[in-house]
Amino acid sequence: MTTTLAPPAVVLDAVSRTYRSRAGSVAALRAVSHAFVAGTFTAVMGPSGSGKSTLLQIAAGLDRPTTGRVSIAGTDLAGLGETALTRFRRTAMAFVFQSYNLLDALSAFDNVALPVRLAGLRVEPAAVLDALDRVGLRDLARRRPPELSGGQQQRVAIARALYARSDSQPSVLFADEPTGALDRSTGRDVLRLLRALADGGQTVVMVTHDPLAASYADETLFLADGQVVGRLRHADAATIAQRMSELE
Ligand code: ADP
Ligand code: MG
Repeated sequence: MTTTLAPPAVVLDAVSRTYRSRAGSVAALRAVSHAFVAGTFTAVMGPSGSGKSTLLQIAAGLDRPTTGRVSIAGTDLAGLGETALTRFRRTAMAFVFQSYNLLDALSAFDNVALPVRLAGLRVEPAAVLDALDRVGLRDLARRRPPELSGGQQQRVAIARALYARSDSQPSVLFADEPTGALDRSTGRDVLRLLRALADGGQTVVMVTHDPLAASYADETLFLADGQVVGRLRHADAATIAQRMSELE
């Protein structure tokens, strides 16, 4: 068997982010370096205020580092102006948040199609159904969010994130606490889905507080005080919880 090194989807090179305000400055990230390998699922954990959301925002090109560099799928974000960065983000990145932000009046199908419709692009019904198929909801395409469980609603939000990338699969799917509003069993459906997407080649980066959620990832990154203080690969929930308790 030959070993091939998968190319990194996202590389952070000595990334620092300092927020300045009248109250003083906060070093939210301090010289963080990490390569998120393409086609893998990474969980980011750490105490509140440790820099998780800042890391996600910077890795996704939603915010720029104060110092250091970020590249996504081989593109150095520092070389992109705001317009090019926005366009790049639209094609290369997908986002899922704790709140699904679905419209209750629209069917699952129409929720998935909405961003593309709003962007003034042509909606291909077959592609919308494909996206719903990827999250296991093709048969429920006509249901509205109030007729779906929380886990199913989050899966619709994931289908929408995947479909909004138009023809190509996004380089990275970023998720900030995607199971934060779900109970254990519906959360598990979403985690299994993220795991299956990664097994199918999708790069997934997820912020979570939950060791069980992180146990679905290939690698868990631990942040404390703006720095990466640990990494675990293929760890179980108990091992991850133990490491977390040492940080809190
Ligand atoms: P986490 O997601 O791990 O809770 P954040 O990345 O949100 O952490 O925040 C890291 C640190 O940066 C915290 O001390 C937070 O108060 C600070 N911070 C985050 N966003 C801002 C901002 N827009 N302005 C000032 N400080 C911020
Ligand atoms: Mg946060």
